[in-house]
Amino acid sequence: MERLIAVVEDEEKIRGMIRSYLQNEGYEIVEAEDGTTAVELIKAQKVDLVLLDIMLPKKDGYEVLKEIRRNNKKLPVIMLTARAEEIDKLLGLEMGADDYITKPFSMRELAARIKAVLRRTYFDYDDGDQDDEMLVRGELEIDQGAYEVKLAGEPVNLTPTEYKILVTLAEKPGRVFSRLQLMERAMGEAFVHYERSIDTHVSNLRKKIEKDPANPEYIHTVYGIGYRFGEKK
Ligand code: CA
Repeated sequence: MERLIAVVEDEEKIRGMIRSYLQNEGYEIVEAEDGTTAVELIKAQKVDLVLLDIMLPKKDGYEVLKEIRRNNKKLPVIMLTARAEEIDKLLGLEMGADDYITKPFSMRELAARIKAVLRRTYFDYDDGDQDDEMLVRGELEIDQGAYEVKLAGEPVNLTPTEYKILVTLAEKPGRVFSRLQLMERAMGEAFVHYERSIDTHVSNLRKKIEKDPANPEYIHTVYGIGYRFGEKK
């Protein structure tokens, strides 16, 4: 199946290079050169992935990403960044980008990232029945079809990263995941340099789902390694 990729980039030369390379790789491409057009385009077309530049006219990439996430938590988005501060901001704001790539990048690297994100997204989350699978663990219910989490019947509001960490752990109770493994699964390979930030996400997640975050029932620390999901006994 041909995947449709939205390329959102105001620099025509870069956009053109991305378009011809990806078309050659067998993808279909739609393009937008500013943030407002991008939001409209993504609403109107069923795209499979978005390549999103940060510095854009009319609406910047952060704003576009926020609008995408308001309607669609699953659509994979790879940010195109020009500076390290933009990466810090992306991480800091917890905006739910699936990956980022720093300019200047090679087309081959870009294509590899796209392939990895598509594989992860559509294999993990759109794989037939698995997509709608309901995970019930103690008082915790995770509805993977609706992307919703409830604790004792009450909705819990998680960020996309917290959600992915929780699903990764809860799918395999008892299995120990290293920080690196959780980071790869929840945030993408590009984020592995920020391995320690997984602790912050887990700590925030615990505040939302644990009755006593200091004495967790669900997400247990495995000292020196990472984390493990343990059902309430
Ligand atoms: Ca730009």
